[in-house]
Amino acid sequence: MDSSSVVTVLGSCSGTEPMPGRHHTAITLRHRDRLYWFDAGECCSYTAHVNGMDLPSTEAVFVSHTHMDHVGGLPNLLWTLRKLTTCTAAARERLAGRTIGIHIPDLAVYEGMMAMLRGTEGGFKTNFTLEPRPVRDGVIHDAHGVRVRALHNLHLGEGEPHRSFSFRIETERHAIVYSGDVKSIADFAEFHDGCDLLMMETGHHRVEQVCGYLKDSGARFGRLLFVHHGRAILDDSGGELAKAQAILGDRVGVAEDNQSLTLA
Ligand SMILES: [Zn+2]
Repeated sequence: MDSSSVVTVLGSCSGTEPMPGRHHTAITLRHRDRLYWFDAGECCSYTAHVNGMDLPSTEAVFVSHTHMDHVGGLPNLLWTLRKLTTCTAAARERLAGRTIGIHIPDLAVYEGMMAMLRGTEGGFKTNFTLEPRPVRDGVIHDAHGVRVRALHNLHLGEGEPHRSFSFRIETERHAIVYSGDVKSIADFAEFHDGCDLLMMETGHHRVEQVCGYLKDSGARFGRLLFVHHGRAILDDSGGELAKAQAILGDRVGVAEDNQSLTLA
């Protein structure tokens, strides 16, 4: 069985005004011919579809928190899945009877989104089922060789119920960690230890502070990919990458939209 994973950054930008060449945050994992979404920022389904990704293979969506730069493209993604079932027989057959989990920290946002979708054509009746699932600390998905753990972070404060999460994604061979938005990389320090790929947001952090922390704390990880870019990277991605690589070497990268990484 193919145990490789492909991670694609569909959108690499934090919650800025419309940014040439970059869109709000959305990341996918492809594993065993199934597609998993980690955040769904603006036009993520458009980008995925026109670049040849197989949307009907969507298994689940995981939302780190419900800010617009992480969920703006979610209703459109779900709408596009239904649209594909109405215009291609293959998509209709493949999605028929399937259940797609929508893991989301705030179910009120899910309900609002569904109200919007039910106002669209056909009352948004689908031949597949969307199943909303609240995000809690611990394992929230474990099937088809993909286990997803959630850990709350302090991006939206400390009160319960927690509304902002980081994710650790484990396959048979690899561990991938996506920060979501965090108050500090220390929020999820034990979570990212030993991962093969660490995707860390820079919308609220400087790359030199993140790299310095990882180096000084002796954190074990394979590669570091910066995502959810803040102003410093948007203004000078090459300069910021040079700062990061001066600390951690060439295992650090700055994500571009439509960039894919294969973990073989
Ligand atoms: Zn954000």
